[in-house]
Order: sequence, then C-alpha cells, then structure tokens
Amino acid sequence: MEKIAMKTPLVEMDGDEMTRVLWKIVKDELILPFIDLKTEYYDLGLEYRDQTNDQVTVDSANATKKYGVAVKCATITPNAARVEEYNLKEMWKSPNGTIRAILDGTVFRAPIVVKGIEPTVRTWKKPLVIARHAYGDVYKATEMKIPGAGKAELVYTDAEGNETRALIHEFDGPGIIQGQHNICKSIESFARSCFNYALDIKEDLWFSTKDTISKKYDHTFKDIFQEIYDNEYKEKFEAAGIEYFYTLIDDAVARVIRSEGGFIWAVKNYDGDVMSDMIATAFGSLAMMTSVLVSPDGIYEYEAAHGTVQRHYYKYLKGERTSTNSVATIYAWSGALRKRGELDEIPELMHFADCLEESVIETIEGGTMTGDLARLTTLTNVTEADSEEFIKAIRKTLEGKLA
Ligand code: NAP
Ligand code: MG
Repeated sequence: MEKIAMKTPLVEMDGDEMTRVLWKIVKDELILPFIDLKTEYYDLGLEYRDQTNDQVTVDSANATKKYGVAVKCATITPNAARVEEYNLKEMWKSPNGTIRAILDGTVFRAPIVVKGIEPTVRTWKKPLVIARHAYGDVYKATEMKIPGAGKAELVYTDAEGNETRALIHEFDGPGIIQGQHNICKSIESFARSCFNYALDIKEDLWFSTKDTISKKYDHTFKDIFQEIYDNEYKEKFEAAGIEYFYTLIDDAVARVIRSEGGFIWAVKNYDGDVMSDMIATAFGSLAMMTSVLVSPDGIYEYEAAHGTVQRHYYKYLKGERTSTNSVATIYAWSGALRKRGELDEIPELMHFADCLEESVIETIEGGTMTGDLARLTTLTNVTEADSEEFIKAIRKTLEGKLA
C-alpha cells in the first residue's frame, strides 16, 4: 500500500515518562506505516528542556505559529521533587503555560464517547466540549489577609496620575481580600477562538458567566462576546445553521445536565478548570478526553488532557506490565493530521484520521481495552490489553479498514 504524502510538516512536540513511551509506539504502529510523515521535531522532554534552558519550548511554539498545526505529548511541569529527580538548573515553567502565552488561545476539551463506557448522566448522547479561557481571574489574583479593623479600597491610577477609588469593605475585625483582573484583548481573543471553533465543528456555542452579580467584571465578558458575535459572526453562524446562546452560569449548569450534549460550552478560567474535570469524569475517564488549543488567528495545537502518567512509568522502568490508555494521545495525532489535511487539501490524510479514530472506537467496542476502561465498562467478554497490545490491536483494526 502506498503511503499518504504530506505537504507541510506538523510541529511534533515530544514529552515525558509513560506518554513518551506511548508516543513512540503510536508513531511506529499507527502513523509511520501509513503516512510519509513530515514533522519538525522538538524534544520537550524535561532533560532537553533543561539542557536548552527551556529555549526548545519557545522554539516549538514559534514553529507552531509558522506552520499552523502542532501535536504535543504530555510533559512534566517541574516542582521541587522534579528539580531533585532530574537535577534541574531551574524549576522551569509549565510548557503548556509558555506555549499558551505565545499562541494566545483557548483550550477546547471534548470527551471521546464509546459504547460500553456509559456517561454518568443518562441524557448525554453526544460529546460536550468545554472551552476554557486560559488567562487571568483568580489565577492571576493578588490576595491579602486583613489583620483587623480598617478600610480596604480598589485604587486605579491612570497614566496622568489621577486616582479612581472604590470601597471594598470597611472592616471591623480580621478578614481577607482578593484583587482579580482580566484584559479586554484577551477576552476578545477568547471570544473569537470560540466562535471560530464552533464554525469549524458546526456546533452551537453556549457562553455563561455570573453577570447578574458581577455587573462590571463578568458583564464585560458577556458584552464583548455579544458585540463580536453581532459584528463578525452572526451571518456566518446563520449560514452554518448553528446558534450562539448566552445564559447565566447556574442556568447553564442545569441545562447542561438536561441536555443531550453535542455543543460547546464556553466558560471563564475557574469555571473551565472545575467543569472540565467534572465533564471528563462523568463521561468516563481523563484518558478519553481530547484537548486542543486554538489561537484567535487559527493556529491549532493538539494534545491529550491527562499528564505523563508517572505511576505507570515507574512500573514500566521496573519491567512490570502496564496498561496505559493511549486513546487521547492517538486522538492528538488524528486531530493534527486531519487539520493538516484540511489546510493543505489532502483528502487522503483527512480520511486516514477518520479511519484511525474509528479503529480506536471499534477496538474498544469490540472488547479490547486498557485497564482503566476495563474497570468501568458495561461490556462483557472484555480483554484487558497492556499498553502495547492495545495499540497493536488498533493497528489490526485499522489495517482491515484501510485494505
Ligand atoms: P496524570 O499523569 O494525568 O495521572 C494521574 C492518574 O490518572 C494516573 O496515575 C492514572 O491512575 C490515571 N491516568 C491518567 N492518564 C491515564 C492514562 N492515559 N491511562 C491510564 N490511566 C491514566 O497526572 P499526575 O500523575 O498528577 O501527573 C504526572 C505528571 O504529568 C506531572 O509531572 C505533571 O506535571 C504532568 N502533567 C502534564 C500535563 C500536560 O502536559 N498536559 C497535564 C497534567 C499533568 P492510576 O495510577 O490509578 O492508574
Ligand atoms: Mg482542574
């Protein structure tokens, strides 16, 4: 069989631990035999990040800007224990944070739905995509403990030195305060990323905040979304037959539970952090969650939502059997290849991506799966495959499909 040719390289960001092990097997078994793969390779494994003083992460993000599509393996975000374990020069920042800051985007997370792994919520029939704003609010807040009686105020000083003040609270005893911010430009990027993504996958877009209580802060998010929608996207949405819908966050939560899924739910930073864990768990497993960072100018970076699965890696190093789920990693590859196919007009590449995803689903629905799913499934006659057997089983399904 002739391999599928590519035009533009994918930016390939390799990673750490168990996911680095899976990365190689996925490439060898599911990609290289079928595609004449073109990638520009960046090793974001912690050792090489340390060697290059993290320059490799910056370079990989800039390459993504140049080529438009990247596929990323999970990477270690160093903490004190990792600094010691890898004898690091510095506690390097989270690669995802660095890449996000350069690409300025929104993270979209969608569960992969298979028969036999039933959502906890009975009404959910289709995947529900969470779009999380990835800048500001409580993640960039300044906090203070108030030791006793006194007045706390917000003070804004403009470029000419003029002050505007607002009373936070007149304390008569100890308490706490917190100052949050966001930037209109970042909210505008967030809005455009969401509208573009909705058009891309042709699904409705919901957006929710607490604007009734937060009449300036959250209300600004609501207003920016509405203005951009009315001025730039309304006609495109109507032509695509999809809807933009704003509602209060508590109403959204209730409606999400009653819904069938099949739409995008855009939320602020904190809401996205909390809700995406809930949605992933309710759909089955973090290893069955895709994640893509989309920048406002249409640059895509595909990854898995989970980490490097450190616990399994240590077992692997000791030569013990592992049964690590590679589905989200495979979907990162299929997502990136499909997008490359779309941009370069290579229908065979898009078709291959569809076949690869169908093969993953059919393999699981046929009863071959990794331990995390085997523990949850309602299917009977299940074979619990090890990390490599599972990928090889998918290859067999894929070969059948492509023949
Ligand atoms: P994790 O790698 O997501 O794993 C946590 C646990 O979830 C695992 O021990 C395993 O449970 C289960 N799990 C996750 N992915 C799985 C998979 N593919 N197949 C089967 N089980 C899976 O999170 P972590 O252990 O907290 O973090 C490890 C490292 O990943 C950290 O250094 C962190 O910085 C990094 N991290 C990176 C990213 C990223 O690059 N996007 C995201 C999050 C974390 P059992 O042990 O019970 O089987
Ligand atoms: Mg979280």
